[in-house]
Amino acid sequence: MQWRAILLFGAPGSGKGTQGKILGTIPGFCHLSCGDVFRGMDLRTKVGQAFLQYSSAGKLVPDDVTVDLWRQHMANMVTLGKFKPEIDHLVLDGIPRNVEQAKLLKADIKVEALFHLVCHDRAKLEERLKRRALRDNRLDDASDKVIHDRLETYKKETKPVLDYYGEKLVKEIDAEQFPYEVTRDILSQVQATKAERKNRKLAEVVA
Ligand code: ADP
Repeated sequence: MQWRAILLFGAPGSGKGTQGKILGTIPGFCHLSCGDVFRGMDLRTKVGQAFLQYSSAGKLVPDDVTVDLWRQHMANMVTLGKFKPEIDHLVLDGIPRNVEQAKLLKADIKVEALFHLVCHDRAKLEERLKRRALRDNRLDDASDKVIHDRLETYKKETKPVLDYYGEKLVKEIDAEQFPYEVTRDILSQVQATKAERKNRKLAEVVA
């Protein structure tokens, strides 16, 4: 069974985590941040060590390790009843983070929409990351060099995911607004996407 999924997408600092947390409080949405799964691990384990090594250098953790961990985490969420595939939409933030991961997840998720949180102002992204480093004690946001490398990794490896899913699924959202305005725009797009799907189904029945 493929799980219905909505993807939150954007550069580090664009607000995926903030939006994911807000959406996750709405019944019927289940939010999962891949970065949070990594951060919640025992950092003495092999995977934990790999995470520390890659994230503190602004790089992505290797795909097989990431997808295995994600699958294990999802299986636990289903077992614990935190994610109910029959009724919930999965809101994924931070995964897939490159085209290879998108291909690996093809069997697991049916992507209904990808929300691209667009922030053209690089200085704003950097400022948000620095604020977060102080607040959340995050090693990967702590230095200018790592922030720079994370933004470069995003441009080179993550952005191509937009082309992979294509313009039918990609919805651009202005991420420079207040958080509640970003949430409002995402939800109105969710509503529009739902209506489109319903109309398409109706058209198929009539044809
Ligand atoms: P941000 O919200 O700033 O984009 P995350 O919390 O999502 O950051 O991720 C922090 C770090 O965790 C990344 O820089 C990367 O090293 C690692 N990571 C998170 N998700 C993935 C993923 N899907 N694939 C590989 N590495 C990941």
